[in-house]
Amino acid sequence: MSTFALPDTEVLAERARAALERCGLDRPREPAGPAGSAGAARTPITGRELFPLDHDGAASVERALDTAHETFTSSWRDTPAPVRGRLVHRLGELLREHKDDLAELVTIEAGKIRSEALGEVQEMIDICDLAVGVSRQLYGRTMPSERPGHRLMETWHPLGVVGVITAFNFPVAVWSWNTCVALVCGDTVVWKPSELTPLTALACHGLLMRAAADVGAPPGVHQVVLGGREVGEALVEDHRVALLSATGSTAMGRSVAPRVAARMGRYLLELGGNNAAVVAPSADLDLVVRGSVFSAAGTAGQRCTTLRRLIVHEDVVEEVTQRVVDAYKQLRDRIGDPFDESTLVGPLVGERGYTAMCEALERAGADGGEVLVGGGRRLAEEAAEAYYVEPTVVRMPGQTAVVGEETFAPILYVMSYRTLEEAVRMHNGVPQGLSSAIFTQDQAEAERFLSAAGSDCGIVNVNIGTSGAEIGGAFGGEKDTGGGRESGSDAWKAYMRRATNTVNYGGELPLAQGVRFL
Ligand code: NAD
Repeated sequence: MSTFALPDTEVLAERARAALERCGLDRPREPAGPAGSAGAARTPITGRELFPLDHDGAASVERALDTAHETFTSSWRDTPAPVRGRLVHRLGELLREHKDDLAELVTIEAGKIRSEALGEVQEMIDICDLAVGVSRQLYGRTMPSERPGHRLMETWHPLGVVGVITAFNFPVAVWSWNTCVALVCGDTVVWKPSELTPLTALACHGLLMRAAADVGAPPGVHQVVLGGREVGEALVEDHRVALLSATGSTAMGRSVAPRVAARMGRYLLELGGNNAAVVAPSADLDLVVRGSVFSAAGTAGQRCTTLRRLIVHEDVVEEVTQRVVDAYKQLRDRIGDPFDESTLVGPLVGERGYTAMCEALERAGADGGEVLVGGGRRLAEEAAEAYYVEPTVVRMPGQTAVVGEETFAPILYVMSYRTLEEAVRMHNGVPQGLSSAIFTQDQAEAERFLSAAGSDCGIVNVNIGTSGAEIGGAFGGEKDTGGGRESGSDAWKAYMRRATNTVNYGGELPLAQGVRFL
């Protein structure tokens, strides 16, 4: 049982300092000076402050943008892409070396259990490998010209400074998806991490600077600026930020998108999800239980891809619900210190998530929902400022308003359906469109879910849960999830600008479309 003993905050602060030192940072941060403001590093494990850490002020954000822009124009955009790839290759080596150190910081700052924290760093290593490959594959196409003696083609060029704003729940992986790809594409990066996870950001920046020194790349390719919303807003407003890649809540995206658009900048948004799995009568229920429980309760329900809705055929809804509830009962003894090997559910990141969970459960109850398991708070006496909760299953009579919202906590709503059309309608009947799944042995049913008339999400899975995507595919979602795509496939194109070139090698100058002029 991992329920009781929590580590002391002082011990965690010491572990954080030691991990930072091993990553090459003697002191977490130079004071930002009078223009900066007082911030702090905290841990959700005890809910306490680890140590103070200055935030950046307007002047240091301005300096970071200047340096990034200057490095882009003076050298990085002209550095051959495979040479840029060497920087990311070296970063990958350092990440392998410091996997434990970064995972340690992820657990301390985001509260992830050890295996998930290690998994997150593995994802960074994987994207390094992918981006190094991409550095030799920034292909443009050649199209047949309609004119004799002409060649028509496209070339891809670096875009400029990429502003990266990230959320607390994937404090390092989302940065690496953006940064590794942006760097090989010839862009420079200014990163504003979540105010809840500054130490992981400083560690990543430190490792990247070591990689830059090792391969002779300019240190100005990457800057990190710490602070809250106002620091993010400085990136949003600045015309030197050619692409703003922002990950976080839909509310954040709604504030950011029109402001970047007003200055004709580009944005890439990765926002909230409200992910569902449809369970058909033919489904392999062992897979359903395994896939659902990890997707719904893993990371204490704080993944953008967390399974929040289980839409089950009425023939199997009783059995599926019972088996999921039984599995959740086993989780009850595995809530607590995320460093403990036996823990499966760590803390919520803070009070906001806990309050949202309580409110959602109250609304669900008022709508006729019944809590079948979970719902309680744990360890409140041992750590009054930390928020450990029991993963919760709620049987709902239908998809009411509260089910349509993303509550960033481990609540799984179970609903039933009769026909696949009804299931798909219910599935798509929420504002978000990130990840989805169907569990079925019926191939035609699976294909219908994958088709244009099926799931409206950016990620559509068969016989696998909604969370835990691999980096090889493009990641992102539709509707209120923001429409952006990051990571693998051809997501690199968002970080570059395309030029169409027509070359005349024929000695004549025929105009296109047969136009005659002079
Ligand atoms: P959040 O929106 O509170 O904060 C995200 C980041 O945006 C932080 O760095 C924050 O300082 C910054 N920010 C907030 N308002 C801003 C503004 N107006 N201008 C500029 N910057 C601003 O989100 P959070 O609580 O850290 O993370 C949880 C949310 O993120 C969930 O909704 C989750 O689904 C979403 N998320 C989405 C993805 C995805 O890939 N789709 C991945 C991870 C998290």
